Amino acid sequence: MTSEHGPSAESSHILAPPAAVGVIGGGQLGRMFIQAAQRLGYEAGVLAATSDAPAAQVASWCVIGPPDHLPALRTFADRALAVTVEFENVSAPAVRWLAKRRLTRPGWRTLWITQNRLREKRFLARRAIPHAPWRPVRDDHELELAVRALGAPLILKTAASGYDGKGQVLVQSADQARTGWISLGRAPAVAEAWVDFAAELSVVVARGGNGQAVTYPVALNTHDRHILDSTLMPAPVGPIVTLEAKTLALAIAQALDTVGVLTVEFFLTAQGSLLVNEIAPRPHNSGHLTIEAAGSSQFEQQARALCGLPLGSSDLLSPAAMVNLLGDLWIRAKGTPRWAAALALDPGVSLHLYGKRTAAPGRKMGHMTVLDPDPEQALTRALAARRALIPLSI
Ligand code: AMP
Repeated sequence: MTSEHGPSAESSHILAPPAAVGVIGGGQLGRMFIQAAQRLGYEAGVLAATSDAPAAQVASWCVIGPPDHLPALRTFADRALAVTVEFENVSAPAVRWLAKRRLTRPGWRTLWITQNRLREKRFLARRAIPHAPWRPVRDDHELELAVRALGAPLILKTAASGYDGKGQVLVQSADQARTGWISLGRAPAVAEAWVDFAAELSVVVARGGNGQAVTYPVALNTHDRHILDSTLMPAPVGPIVTLEAKTLALAIAQALDTVGVLTVEFFLTAQGSLLVNEIAPRPHNSGHLTIEAAGSSQFEQQARALCGLPLGSSDLLSPAAMVNLLGDLWIRAKGTPRWAAALALDPGVSLHLYGKRTAAPGRKMGHMTVLDPDPEQALTRALAARRALIPLSI
């Protein structure tokens, strides 16, 4: 198997603290990576679009600019001895350019495959990894073939730049397919059969440069409007589903030869089989609870893998649940949510806010985590704390 990273990324390389490391992308995933890397003693910085981006607010150093702008990348590479990303849509040429100069993890091949749904589906198909039936849609003829092969309902998803349900449209009948695709700007897309799933699961994997890999327990996820709403870990699934999910996630990380953190999202069907929905080559919203609940968080593992340090423990110290705090809460609260009320209700609630100045519907502003010996109880408590954020009269 070919290695995905460049000559500067040999597996034996250890970059010891307090070296400067950098993350491309200024959002909350970059912010939590920086916080974890700083705790390990690294001088952690960011390439962010603005100086008040969530990651820029906590970074030890910051380069402002677009992620694939050569002058910005050059300044960033002058500072960071090792580079990671917080999102997969960094242009492959930019990552290649960086990888020739700096330890860059994950490497361009992982990003190239996972930043495009068509390439990702082909990768899954080639490796015989179970996933929902799909067809490419790049012209009217392919759309017609897809509808004929998959039937309705189906989901059209743009091949590039989709996340949290953006760039997706549910097609209820064959007649709707054309208007659905037009609503996506007739962009190259995949048509995916509708999966009548019983549950959505995910597995976060951390993999080091020496091939050492660990998985966190399987997470059970619920979504609201296609956006993650809550996660519970470990998922209440049997040992066979657990083993299969972890085995598939590890096989994907190995097949991509990825170094760093990678998350695999699954549908669990009513018949108990697993279908891979999506691969994220980075820490994932469903792994945020590992900050409190695991020996080493997903962000610490990202820093360890990046720098060639041995991976930490992915064992849970306690079952846990996480609920997302979306901008809708601010809108419903008509201002600042009632933080004191939520925290007073349950001292076991850990509050994370990402420092975003403006709330918008569906915008991820923060999350809350609760540890409890009973994961269902952890979720009940986290949901109660979130409800307390909104005044009762509203
Ligand atoms: P994605 O961006 O592909 O992860 O999709 C976001 C969410 O949309 C998923 O977590 C599911 O809740 C839903 N979804 C996506 N694809 C399908 C599908 N083929 N069948 C049913 N629901 C889906």
